[in-house]
Amino acid sequence: MNIIKDIEITGKRVLIRCDFNVPKDEFGNITDDRRIREALPTIRYCIDRDCKIILMSHYERPKPGVYEERFSLKPVAKRLHTLLKISKEIYMAEDVIGEDAKAKAATLEAGDILLLENLRYEAGETENDSDFAKALADFGDVYINDAFGACHRKHASIHAITQYFDKAHRAAGFLLAKEINFFSKMLDNPVRPFVAVVGGSKVSGKLQALLKLVDKVDKLIIGGGMAFTFLRALGIETGNSLVEEELIDEASAIMARAKELSVKLYLPVDVVAAQEFSENTTVKYLPVQEIPEGWMGLDIGPASIRLFREALNDAKSIIWNGPMGVYEMDRYAKGSLMMSNIIAQTHATTVVGGGDTADVVNRAGDIDEMTFVSTGGGASLKLLEGERLPGIEALES
Ligand code: AMP
Repeated sequence: MNIIKDIEITGKRVLIRCDFNVPKDEFGNITDDRRIREALPTIRYCIDRDCKIILMSHYERPKPGVYEERFSLKPVAKRLHTLLKISKEIYMAEDVIGEDAKAKAATLEAGDILLLENLRYEAGETENDSDFAKALADFGDVYINDAFGACHRKHASIHAITQYFDKAHRAAGFLLAKEINFFSKMLDNPVRPFVAVVGGSKVSGKLQALLKLVDKVDKLIIGGGMAFTFLRALGIETGNSLVEEELIDEASAIMARAKELSVKLYLPVDVVAAQEFSENTTVKYLPVQEIPEGWMGLDIGPASIRLFREALNDAKSIIWNGPMGVYEMDRYAKGSLMMSNIIAQTHATTVVGGGDTADVVNRAGDIDEMTFVSTGGGASLKLLEGERLPGIEALES
């Protein structure tokens, strides 16, 4: 697969697919602009080569055909302008492939940037429609995909569009290349001991990833809601904690596989338990064997944190996906925040994947301490599952 520096772009119209799907608060303020910041190296590279730059991205899930303001990319254009520290205006199109976008694209000069409106305003985007992709492709002489977070989707700006650019005119941006590089290095050739830390709500969401990881790692640490299905498989009663009864056998099979391969598997030994899924309630710190009927584990407890710290002590490579508890509520966030601190303080190469996990690391103030924090949630999980991403395949094919 070509990277942007492998192809000739000087002075050309460069169409870049970014992932500007950033979180916003209820007032519309961008709360985490990492995805925009991570796109800067590719954009700056194009500015320095006198390109006319056309950027495109989706933002959340608007109803196709309805241009609702809250799904507009206008705040992204503003933040991008601030982050790029350029005096020139960033042009914002009022539509995606309509008259305004075309008119503004036609007047671009060397180094100018135009951002198209939210791709998902148009139905053709999620339908991977070839005509829509062609209309997008007409904006550029060269196509760059730098949207790792969207590469697991077969959408027009990611997939169908590649048919309109030959290999000399399409490439990965620096962010996409970096994401692939970190994940493949860690999964294909990790420095050992290699430890995977997996959390999150359910086993079902990460079953394929767990099955792949158990074959690759030296240690597997399981936390979050999914740990309770494993504890149940060991015959431990877990009260009202999140358990997927139908996956108890799968959990047993994963533990058996770990044993067969001499992979050390760690589960929480204690929890922060409550009677309701709420912050405003009494909590108890209990060994997992003592969760009373009617109580549920919502975070890992202090003994688990110490255990996991010990297990991570000698790690040389760590991959982390999924929070250790219901971190959205302060009361159940400590296990995840401590886990972030512990992983950040190791001397291992640390790769963090998953939107929630990146959020935890950000809140814990550990972003800069990690070797790499992925910008893609679903996409990074697919890589852990050993799947090829449609966006990457389309660039390569
Ligand atoms: P996932 O999307 O599968 O990575 O799961 C992330 C979600 O798991 C977060 O929203 C957490 O609140 C949730 N979660 C983590 N631990 C628990 C738990 N013990 N019980 C219920 N939900 C949990």
